[in-house]
Amino acid sequence: MTTSPSSPYPYRLRLPGPISIPERIRQATARPIINHRGPEMRVVLEEIQRLIQPLFGTKAPVLTFGASGTGVMEASLVNVLAPGEKVLALAHGQFGDRYAQIARELGAEVDVIESEWGWAPDPAVVAAKLETANYRALITVHNESSTGAVTDLAAIGRLLRDRDTLFLVDSVSGLAGMELRQDEWRVDIVVTGSQKALMCPPGLGFASVSEKARKVIERDDRCPRFYLDMRKALATVDKHETAFTCPVSLLFGIQESLRAIHEEGLPQVFARHKRLSDALRAGCVALGLPAFGDPASASQTVVVASVPEPLSAGPIVKHMYETYNTVIAGARNKLNGRVVRIGTMGQISEAEILTDLHYLELSLTALGHKVPAPGCGVAAAIASLR
Ligand code: PLP
Repeated sequence: MTTSPSSPYPYRLRLPGPISIPERIRQATARPIINHRGPEMRVVLEEIQRLIQPLFGTKAPVLTFGASGTGVMEASLVNVLAPGEKVLALAHGQFGDRYAQIARELGAEVDVIESEWGWAPDPAVVAAKLETANYRALITVHNESSTGAVTDLAAIGRLLRDRDTLFLVDSVSGLAGMELRQDEWRVDIVVTGSQKALMCPPGLGFASVSEKARKVIERDDRCPRFYLDMRKALATVDKHETAFTCPVSLLFGIQESLRAIHEEGLPQVFARHKRLSDALRAGCVALGLPAFGDPASASQTVVVASVPEPLSAGPIVKHMYETYNTVIAGARNKLNGRVVRIGTMGQISEAEILTDLHYLELSLTALGHKVPAPGCGVAAAIASLR
């Protein structure tokens, strides 16, 4: 634990990613480097493949890239698109916008269904739009970290049952913290990153590839690609190798993280995320920060709380950091000033969120916000946890 010279409080990383790394995982990343193409590495990659597939809810191969989440978002598109092909983007926040932007940059013709931020895409609207054109891909974000809204992937997947359209999903901030059933929900490519619910340092990206997607990826008439070429990755994945030098240390971390997740049990991990996010959200509401967006699609890996006027998010984030050494997020988009975001992903406990709420109350009070009663945030969270 680090402390800043001016603060007696331990440094608390409470962002919706990157998140604080559990000690056993951090230690794993410090193991001596081994031959990235030797037998020991193949054993590691085999175990990762076996343990990570249930998190995607797939039996399809999961490819590994030395890339951040955005890198694998790009990988999912560059491998299936040709310039001029049509893409349907369901955007309901910053990362949905980014996904659409990547497709545009690759030369696709992108139609966007824009939902109100905080609300999930409406499957009925998507169904109607699918009748208007032949889309190569439908792209969306599973857990929109900028707003805290979760997309009903099963409902969207059902719409694609008898279509050639590929279903591509960014679950960078969802996977490992919430249920994902790629095969059952007919998702063709799911991408994720290491630094969120997978509890590792940033830098690793994963992409799972369905048989339907693979047939398109194997075509030679797709966008130009080299490092992110999934054909190379698919040619090596069954041998438990990577096409290029893999980030060995990060993979040691992922191996340990996956072991920890399976020791706890996937249903238990998901239930813990739900319980803690519900409690943190209840605490924020009690402090006078209403939950942002539609409660029916509220995330369990990030809590997004509205900041009422005349307060603004910036001073809250700053006060939490400068006084309590606690790093929470505001927004880097049109919600700037209007929301604060706190991660509930990874190996966090009740103590973490009760501490968040205690510091949040003190920060709000210091900034002139009148909380209804002392300790009401913590009390509401405890009531929710019971
Ligand atoms: N998608 C979502 C939902 C995210 O939350 C993030 C990062 O916060 C990204 C994509 C981009 O990932 P990265 O910052 O690792 O490129």
